[in-house]
Amino acid sequence: MRFGEHFTEHLVSATWQEATGWTGPPRLGPFGPLTISPAMVGLHYGQVVFEGLKAYRWQDGTLAVFRPDAHARRFQRSAERMAMPHLPEEYFLQAVDAFVATDGTALPAGDPALSLYLRPVMFASEACLALRPSREYTFLLMGFVTGGFFSDEPNPIAVLVSREYSRAAPGGTGQAKAAGNYAGAFLAQQAAVDAGCDQVVWVDAAEQRWIEELGGMNIFFVRGSGPGATVVTPALTGTLLPGVTRDSLLTLARERGYPVSEERISVEQWRDECRSGLITETFACGTAAVVTPVGRVVDGGTTWHVGDEKPGPVTLELRQALIDLHLGWTADSHGWSRLI
Ligand code: PMP
Repeated sequence: MRFGEHFTEHLVSATWQEATGWTGPPRLGPFGPLTISPAMVGLHYGQVVFEGLKAYRWQDGTLAVFRPDAHARRFQRSAERMAMPHLPEEYFLQAVDAFVATDGTALPAGDPALSLYLRPVMFASEACLALRPSREYTFLLMGFVTGGFFSDEPNPIAVLVSREYSRAAPGGTGQAKAAGNYAGAFLAQQAAVDAGCDQVVWVDAAEQRWIEELGGMNIFFVRGSGPGATVVTPALTGTLLPGVTRDSLLTLARERGYPVSEERISVEQWRDECRSGLITETFACGTAAVVTPVGRVVDGGTTWHVGDEKPGPVTLELRQALIDLHLGWTADSHGWSRLI
C-alpha cells in the first residue's frame, strides 16, 4: 500500500471570506475533484499550509486521534506566517471528529500496523493575480489508511547531509508547515536518493554546520549508554518544524529519567562523536515515520556509521513508549489521545 494514493470516501471542507470570516463549521461531503479558478492565489503564490496527523484503532475498537489539538495550534501558527486566517481550534477538531467518525471504518480492527493518516490543508482560493494575500481561503481535510513503520526491529535509514541546498533561513518560513518548503526540498531529497540514502539532513543556512532536521522528520541523538544516556535534539531555532512527535518524545524521555537537551549540534560533532563512541544512537521521528533509527550518514565524500547501525536501546524504548500510547496499550496520562 503506497503512501497517500488511495483516499477514503469523504472530505471535510470549510471556507473563509474576508467579509464574513469562516462561513460555518467544516462540513462532511464526498471526496472528489474540486472546481478552482486558474487564477487562484494559492496556485500562483503558494499561499498554502497543511498538517499531518494520525488516528489509530485501539484493541477495543475505539478510534483515537493523537494530539489533534497540538496539530490544530501548529496549523494556526503556519497560517499566521503565511498571512492566512486562523482556523479556530474547535473547527479543526470538529473536522477531525466528523472525518474519523465516518471514514474511520476504513481502519480494520486487529491490525495495529495500520493507521488513518489525516491531511488538513488550507489554501488561498480567491481568483486574483494581484500580489497580496488572498481574500478567500478553503480548508479541506482528507485521509487515507497507511501502513505504519510497525515492527519489532525497525529498519535503520541512511541519510545525506545537504550542503548544496538550504531548506530555511532565519526569518523565513522554516517553522511553518507551508507547502513551498516541501517543493523546495524535493531536489535535495532526490540527491539523497541518488547517493543511495533515504533522507536528506538539513543544516542551518548561515553557517551550514548546525543540524536542523530531516526532510519530513525531526532528529534525535543519544549520547552515552545505559541509565546515564542523554537524549539530545536540535533546539527550535525558528528554521525547523516544531514536530509534535519531537515534543512527545522529549516528554517521554524525561519521564523515563533520561536527561534531555535541546541544543546546537554540528555535523562535525555528530561525525566525531559517532567515531569516538560518544554518540551511540541517532533516530528520526515524525507522524509518518514514528521513530526510525539512522544507521549511516553520508556527507560529501565522508561516510560514518552510528553505533553498529542497528536500532539502539533508547531508540527502541522511546519508540515502543510512543506506539503504546498511539495504540492505547498504556494509560494516556498526558491526555494526548482524542477518542472518537
Ligand atoms: N519536520 C518536517 C519538515 C516535517 O514535515 C515533519 C512532519 N510534519 C516533521 C518534522 C515531524 O513533525 P510531526 O512530528 O509533527 O509529524
